[in-house]
Amino acid sequence: MALLNIAEPGQSPIRTQPHKHALGIDLGTTNSLVASANSEGPFIIADENGEALLPSVVAYQNQEEILVGQEAYKLSDAISSVKRLMGRGHADVAHKLAYKLIPADDGGMPLIETSAGPKSPVEVSAEILGKLAKRGQAKLDAEIDGVVITVPAYFDEAQRQATKDAARIAGLNVLRLLSEPTAAAVAYGLDKKLQGNVIIYDLGGGTFDVSLMRLEKGVFEVLATGGDTALGGDDFDRAIARWIEEQSGQETSQQNLSGLNAIARETKHALSEHSEAEITFNGWSGKLDRQTYYSLIDSFIDQTLKACRRVLRDAGMKNEEITDVVMVGGSTRSPRVQEKVSDFFKQELLNELDPDQVVALGAAIQADILVGNKYDNELLLLDVNPLSLGIETMGGLVEKIIPRNTTIPVSRAQEFTTFKDGQTVMSLHVLQGERELVEDCRSLARFELRDIPPMVAGGARIRVTFQVDADGLLSVEAEEMSSGVKSSVVVKPSFGLEDQAIEQMIRDSHSQAEHDRDMRALKENQVEALRIIEATESALANDADLLETKELKALQESLQLLRDSLESADTDLIKQRSESLNELSTEFAARRMDTEIRKAFKGKKIEEVDR
Ligand code: ADP
Ligand code: MG
Repeated sequence: MALLNIAEPGQSPIRTQPHKHALGIDLGTTNSLVASANSEGPFIIADENGEALLPSVVAYQNQEEILVGQEAYKLSDAISSVKRLMGRGHADVAHKLAYKLIPADDGGMPLIETSAGPKSPVEVSAEILGKLAKRGQAKLDAEIDGVVITVPAYFDEAQRQATKDAARIAGLNVLRLLSEPTAAAVAYGLDKKLQGNVIIYDLGGGTFDVSLMRLEKGVFEVLATGGDTALGGDDFDRAIARWIEEQSGQETSQQNLSGLNAIARETKHALSEHSEAEITFNGWSGKLDRQTYYSLIDSFIDQTLKACRRVLRDAGMKNEEITDVVMVGGSTRSPRVQEKVSDFFKQELLNELDPDQVVALGAAIQADILVGNKYDNELLLLDVNPLSLGIETMGGLVEKIIPRNTTIPVSRAQEFTTFKDGQTVMSLHVLQGERELVEDCRSLARFELRDIPPMVAGGARIRVTFQVDADGLLSVEAEEMSSGVKSSVVVKPSFGLEDQAIEQMIRDSHSQAEHDRDMRALKENQVEALRIIEATESALANDADLLETKELKALQESLQLLRDSLESADTDLIKQRSESLNELSTEFAARRMDTEIRKAFKGKKIEEVDR
């Protein structure tokens, strides 16, 4: 009898499921990336030119032509930094943007004015996600089963929801949102076996984020986060641009600004490699050396260190207790940033993974696990909720139910009671924020608990349960304990989009895609029809005498029918009539060929023809 195999302890049984295809997406303010993972580990998926980074830039040329990334980058109507608008009200967007916003009537997310009409930041993000997903799909040569998208640790309910909505519009199945620092830790954590208290220092184009995490035997826990949403490599660019203006004695016009900024950025990148950089600008030329450059940017780096100090203080930790410092974001390529951060934490930095790519690589690892390719993996990712969640109590005060920096997923309950005798309805107002007064916090949702049995004031016991899932999304339930009446809401943040609006956008994007495909088919068939018409006309002009009257008539009729259908925009009709004409003219063509050959022989000597 054959022996049966039994797996070794700890070894996974043979995989029975087919391999699933998952992507990790770093949806950045400045640049976005996509990665995937296989048995050998995670890998970045570059575009056909070998570019890993997709600039997070979208340009709407018209209804049909939407450019994303490199091709949109240089256009004057390009929409950039749309991540800053996600899940934010118009009033929240303090940043100067190069494009026009249309405030929403309800104070919610503003729309962006484009040549294709007003667009929601969610739709714009969906374009970026769609482009990356397509890139992944092409590379893996498979349908994508699921994606993990990273978001900054500080993203609140509305911003997370907006990100999920964008993915839905792009037709993606979101396995989970993952916070960027956690993703970076995962990328380093797996083979490096990171242990202890780890700082994730992420300096990008326009934002700085720092997180303190504890990593222990496969458990990744965010202990505290901080940063500055208006600090990054763009500030270095601006400082260099100002220096160039001063040195050259030239003021830059608004139109010239993007040119100057581009030169400043190139100079910055050069100074990451060399001790000085040559600059030419509007006929002026000069040199910027590292010492001078550092004097321009040191104050920005010091600001990031201040935020690091705050995070350490929040977690009650000292510099010496930090075991590792992970560098993330393009701006950490600057040697000055590395030097100062290394001095601050008094240690060597972890930067062997490309700082642009770490987040996407970590997301890909997590996506591969969640989609089911590595079900024996023991990775446990514990995130924190970035802002406190609570409900309104009498007097316009906020009672916090889940304090900020609580590890998620989490469920917490608290009991409340009625205020008046015989009160049968209780209205619940869910809030987010650190302040004590309702008016200083962000309103997330309102709902009511009805049919409370009438009792004396303070008699009813209402249990309110807050639940935050792994994506950081909240649901709230209220239950009257004696009767068991319940009411609940899944919080739709007030700065999110209405379900209806999302459905519409999804429909639009689908119908748009269909429309695009249809238009293409029509155009192709029209072109083919024209080709046949022209060929037939020219054949008739030369050789109509080869046809019998009946044949000629049939051909001419068929020709006219096809001509008539050209304007019809009816792809099937054009196709069908093209085929009819083609059939008729095939016989004609054969006859012409014969005649040509005969003509060629006629009156010529055999040798001549042979040659
Ligand atoms: P985000 O996370 O905001 O999308 P990235 O992590 O992609 O941003 O970082 C983009 C920033 O990194 C830009 O300001 C860019 O100029 C800067 N950067 C990229 N390469 C270098 C380099 N070699 N030296 C200095 N800064 C760099
Ligand atoms: Mg980033």
